[in-house]
Amino acid sequence: MSDFPIEKIRNIGIIAHIDAGKTTVTERVLFYTGVSHKIGEVHEGETVTDWMEQERERGITITAAAVTSYWVPIGMTKSKDTEHRINIIDTPGHIDFTVEVKRSLRVLDGAVVVFDGVAGVEPQSETNWRYADEYGVPRICFINKLDRLGASFERSFISILERLTPNAIRMQIPDGEENQFQGVINLLEMKYFKFEGELGERVVEAEIPSEEFRKHAEAARAELVEKIVEHNDEAMAEYLEGKEISIERLKQILRKATIDNKLVPVFVGSALRNKGVQFVLDGVVDYLPSPIDKSAVRGIDPKNGNELSREPSDDAPFAALAFKVATDPFVGQLTFFRVYSGVLNAGSYVLNSSTGNQERIGRILRMRANDREDIKEVYAGGIAATVGLKATKTGDTLCDPNNPIILEKIIFPEPVISLRIEPKTKADQEKMSLALKKLSDEDPTFRIKTDEETAETIISGMGELHLEIIVDRMKREFNVGANVGRPQVAYKETVRETAQAEGKYIRQSGGRGQYGHVWLRVEPQGRGGGFEFVDAIKSGVIPQEFIPAAEKGVREALDKGVIAGYPLVDLKVTLYDGTYHEVDSSEIAFKIAAAMALQEAAKRAKPVLLEPIMKVEVIIPDKFLGETTGDLNSRRGRIEQMSDRSPLNLKVIDAKVPLSEMFGYATTIRSLSEGRGTYNMEFDHYEEVPQNVANLIIEGKK
Ligand code: GDP
Repeated sequence: MSDFPIEKIRNIGIIAHIDAGKTTVTERVLFYTGVSHKIGEVHEGETVTDWMEQERERGITITAAAVTSYWVPIGMTKSKDTEHRINIIDTPGHIDFTVEVKRSLRVLDGAVVVFDGVAGVEPQSETNWRYADEYGVPRICFINKLDRLGASFERSFISILERLTPNAIRMQIPDGEENQFQGVINLLEMKYFKFEGELGERVVEAEIPSEEFRKHAEAARAELVEKIVEHNDEAMAEYLEGKEISIERLKQILRKATIDNKLVPVFVGSALRNKGVQFVLDGVVDYLPSPIDKSAVRGIDPKNGNELSREPSDDAPFAALAFKVATDPFVGQLTFFRVYSGVLNAGSYVLNSSTGNQERIGRILRMRANDREDIKEVYAGGIAATVGLKATKTGDTLCDPNNPIILEKIIFPEPVISLRIEPKTKADQEKMSLALKKLSDEDPTFRIKTDEETAETIISGMGELHLEIIVDRMKREFNVGANVGRPQVAYKETVRETAQAEGKYIRQSGGRGQYGHVWLRVEPQGRGGGFEFVDAIKSGVIPQEFIPAAEKGVREALDKGVIAGYPLVDLKVTLYDGTYHEVDSSEIAFKIAAAMALQEAAKRAKPVLLEPIMKVEVIIPDKFLGETTGDLNSRRGRIEQMSDRSPLNLKVIDAKVPLSEMFGYATTIRSLSEGRGTYNMEFDHYEEVPQNVANLIIEGKK
């Protein structure tokens, strides 16, 4: 028997533009859900802010990958029927981490999108919104910071309608704004709630303060009801006949429409002033899906690639996705996972179907705001963490060994920026490797490599800031002293034509000789075509036993291209001829011969440098348009589209720009636009570098 009814579970993320208030909203959610007093009562000696201070000192669990909390809707008493379990899955807010946002969207069922009530929709909120669309994540919105000078609920709401979705609907309207903000009307129920108490954290129902306000609310309610009944034919017919539709029924229709991504309820408040977050929690319970509202999860059978699916049920075979590996200062390495089907027991063995390894599940932990709870089992729809998995990385599937499945993979883009990093002392050397390994287990977009020739360590990631944060964590959390080079673009190389070449490695002076001899052909594969090795050796001119060695030689040689030493990609290599020697041939000789042949063939096949091209979106007030586009052009940018963004006289420029030209762009855009421009960017594709630029790169001038 499950420990908690699955229909009362909500797995949600809080998504926001950086600075919109995600941390504050999360803190308030944990406060309201973590403290068991009813809203309206003040606990002696414990205030919201005290609680937060303590949390900070404790080293905050709110930054955990997932935190579990419980919520009883406003006005209800706690019981088995009213209590809901809300798992909050962390989503990062910075542009360098869009991959992380995508990763977390994969495991959550619904999201609360937070906006700044002064700025309304910001560029990053748009990017995240599109990702959420891509993953079909149902959403509710929270317009935060209504207490700030210049805040406007209506303007922010309109910016959502215009820039994100016409399906947004107001669930509330505020009583006052800026420092006059003191209450809200719940439009569905036409009830007025005032925020009281020293900290504004108490919600008290009261009379609607004025007739004018009531009229305004009634008009807004009519609009809301109309938008809701549109999603149910019967209700629509009754509504048109002038019948009153019950609140219960409206809520049901709205719930379904929200889950189907047809409507987006919007709430308002001020997290900092403790106003309104409680209603958002009610919204999460009322309108966001539970795990059973989602369809069965899809995957493939690792044995034969056939499609499989798993129902969100405890009776189905166990299947879960590891979505975050994190190092916890108290318990060590934690692997967070979401169970899609079946039950996982502590002490059992599972299959990591992504790698083929068996793993033993030791402790299972549920992270809460104030503590960690050891649990014996996790059920379908649940989220928990386990300690001590050895070979499971972010994105891997864990499943029942007798019913293997690989859940739809999270696809991570290739890192585009790298830098050299050098330990300060011998003692730092070992600590550094350990720290980097841990950090790369946590983050699949972060990679480590050793330069064969110089023995230096090279780390790569998604952006300047991404690597900065990793280096900083390595220094602070793992106490590693290191010197760090300048960030470099991760160029690649490829070939434009087909060519062949011979590789011979023959040593026959004294003792046992060496003999390896091959002919290879290289062919271009098209961008993104990857690497392919074809063995076309006929009638044993090279014995079968040496072919894997030749392939290994080719693969190793690909690491260092022929133009400037960047990895060679997107090519097909065919081993089609060669000779051998009865006595002297060896694996090592064929490996070296193949590597030599590859280098030579690549040189003959018109090699070119490839560079990462970024998709860049710049948003600026229109008076800076000329200068901004001029600047993008000088960065070899291709402007693809320009559009208006009302109501703020803003222009949006969509462009494709080489990454190498985007270093320090944050500073440029600020000074170009008197601090008012913003931008975001993500990796788009690799493209050939123009010859004049390639020359600079080869000479090491870029
Ligand atoms: P995050 O970057 O999205 O996590 O945002 P934070 O929660 O850290 O908030 C950014 C800043 O906005 C902080 O200085 C907060 O104190 C402030 N802030 C958050 N919510 C509110 C609010 O409702 N009203 C006001 N005035 N400030 C807020």
